Amino acid sequence: MNCLFCKIVKGEIPSTKVYEDEYVYCFKDINPITPIHYLVIPKEHISGASEIDEKNSSVVSHIFEAIAKIAKAENISEGFRVVTNCGEDAGQTVHHLHFHLLAGVKMGWGEEAVQPVK
Ligand code: AMP
Ligand code: ZN
Repeated sequence: MNCLFCKIVKGEIPSTKVYEDEYVYCFKDINPITPIHYLVIPKEHISGASEIDEKNSSVVSHIFEAIAKIAKAENISEGFRVVTNCGEDAGQTVHHLHFHLLAGVKMGWGEEAVQPVK
C-alpha cells in the first residue's frame, strides 16, 4: 500500500519524532499552522475517522492517552486543540487516520475556525 504515514511509521520517510509507543506515533507536521503542530497517528493503517469500528476503536483511546502525555511533556496542557479531517469536504489529504495537535497560540472558535474553500 502506498501510504505516506505508513512509510513514516516504518522509518522509510524521515520525520521528526515527538512521541512513540506500541500503538501510536507522533511527529511534527511538515507545514505547521500553529507554533506547535504535531500529528498523532495509529501505527496500524486506518484510512480515516469514518473507518473506526468496533475492531479498531481501542487505538483511539490510546491516541488520546498519548495526547495527554504529550501535552504534559510539552507544557501545553493549558490549551491545545485536537482536529481530525475526514473526507474531501473536510480537506483530508493523507488517507491514514491522524489527529492534528495544535497549540502555542490563542485560537478562535466559530466560523473562522472552519474557513470555507472559495
Ligand atoms: P490533512 O490535510 O488533515 O490530511 O493533514 C495532512 C497533514 O500532513 C498536513 O498538515 C501536512 O502538512 C502533513 N504532512 C504531509 N506530508 C508530511 C510529511 N512528510 N511529514 C510531516 N507532515 C506531513
Ligand atoms: Zn497508512
